[in-house]
Amino acid sequence: MSIAHHLEEVRQRIAKAAHDASRDASSVQLLAVSKTFPADDVRVAFDAGQRAFSENYVQEGIAKIAELGDLRADIEWHFIGPLQSNKTRVVAAQFDWVHSIDRLKIAERLSAQRPEGSCALSALNVCIQVNVSGEASKSGVEPADAAALAHAVAALPGLRLRGLMSIPGPADTLNAQRAPHARLRELMDALRAGGLNLDTLSMGMSADLEAAVLEGATMVRIGTAIFGARDYSH
Ligand SMILES: *Cc1c(COP(=O)(O)O)cnc(C)c1O
Repeated sequence: MSIAHHLEEVRQRIAKAAHDASRDASSVQLLAVSKTFPADDVRVAFDAGQRAFSENYVQEGIAKIAELGDLRADIEWHFIGPLQSNKTRVVAAQFDWVHSIDRLKIAERLSAQRPEGSCALSALNVCIQVNVSGEASKSGVEPADAAALAHAVAALPGLRLRGLMSIPGPADTLNAQRAPHARLRELMDALRAGGLNLDTLSMGMSADLEAAVLEGATMVRIGTAIFGARDYSH
């Protein structure tokens, strides 16, 4: 089946979950996760109306952004993978969003390295990644440390803190999938009550997007259900 067809299926899953949650489907943004897939697949998804794409690996992402340079003004590029400090400069220069902030040092570097004075680039949108379920990846700040990090990041001039992101481990039932998403939502509610102006809950992947939408996700990150199974063999 085609990427366009898969995209339509994912849009319908989001619409149904939003309906079940008494939410407007337009309050959930679909982020296509194009990691490991070629630029040509991104172009096909773009032609089918998709505008936001995300990458996990810096080199791969930068290469794809360059290859798709003709679409740059119309695509929102999100970085969602682990970020080492020696890679922050290209990410600050090339991406529109970074979802995986889990250390102040990385945020400070991104803020300092975000190019200034270019009308094409405003503050870099960022989310803090929180480890809400003993994440398999071991990335993410502990929930107890999220508020301190969030307030420090919110004060950085080159960044605009938008919200929280998480990658819970797999779970079998809808209720088990909802639990970590509920924790992230409660954490964001607490940060907002503490004075931070946040609007983004980046949570939900191919296997658990319904659970995430039911718990208030404003951005779901979908790879497999759009592009197919990933092949890491090359
Ligand atoms: C790969 C990845 C996804 C997409 O996962 P699928 O299960 O393929 O939808 C989402 N978020 C992050 C951070 C990822 O690394």
